[in-house]
Amino acid sequence: MKIDVNYGICEANGLCAMAAPDVFDLDDDDALHLLVETATPDNEAAVRDAIRQCPRRAIALSD
Ligand code: SF4
Repeated sequence: MKIDVNYGICEANGLCAMAAPDVFDLDDDDALHLLVETATPDNEAAVRDAIRQCPRRAIALSD
């Protein structure tokens, strides 16, 4: 599944990066970056945790 971030509504609080540090990275300028583009069996639980924690609902998974 593809991981999508709506950067227009992301408030760069870093909650997703704490939940899934192998997938989301907040840089020194408070810009969020995806380290990988897809959810795999190895990271899917962490990605879904990040989705639940995002207060802006800025993260989505799509087929
Ligand atoms: S948890 Fe949501 S609002 Fe916070 S940095 Fe991640 S995508 Fe942005």
